[in-house]
Amino acid sequence: MSDREELSWDRFGDASRDLAQVIADDGFEPDLILSIARGGLFVAGALGYALDVKNLHVMNVEFYTGVDQRLDMPVMLPPVPSAVDLTGATVLVADDVADTGKTLKLVRDFCSDHVAEVRCAVIYQKPHSEVDCEYVWKRTDKWINFPWSVLPPVTERQAHVLDA
Ligand code: 5GP
Repeated sequence: MSDREELSWDRFGDASRDLAQVIADDGFEPDLILSIARGGLFVAGALGYALDVKNLHVMNVEFYTGVDQRLDMPVMLPPVPSAVDLTGATVLVADDVADTGKTLKLVRDFCSDHVAEVRCAVIYQKPHSEVDCEYVWKRTDKWINFPWSVLPPVTERQAHVLDA
């Protein structure tokens, strides 16, 4: 048996649709979906269409540098969504996986200061996650190969200076 969980683009299509159905059946109607870039962008886009939510926001969080290789703590990268966008809103945070759960905890805590309600949706959750997401498609303790990141980039970029 493989030591990896493989998610194909086809299976991701079914997974995101199933996840959306569970959210809809639960009666949760978010005002906006907050995706955690980059993996969460795919999930948020698919959920946005399936739940008919057009208001999508992005938060950039850096944590992983390789397979099971992490920085000490997740770091929010600018631009950070403004409180004006979030205040009083019912928010669905979307990400690909809750692994340690530290990324989702950072985002959830950030939201809690501003929003009316926040819930989390992920394709996968691992057993040791410190955040227990309200909506999970599948649980696994394996490293997951996602279709968007399993292949290397088609080009090699030099270190990128954002404020140059
Ligand atoms: P966490 O903060 O929950 O440990 O990890 C959050 C982010 O790390 C995920 O959104 C994802 O980008 C990356 N990550 C964590 N576990 C995995 C995994 O099993 N496979 C892949 N491809 N990325 C992962």
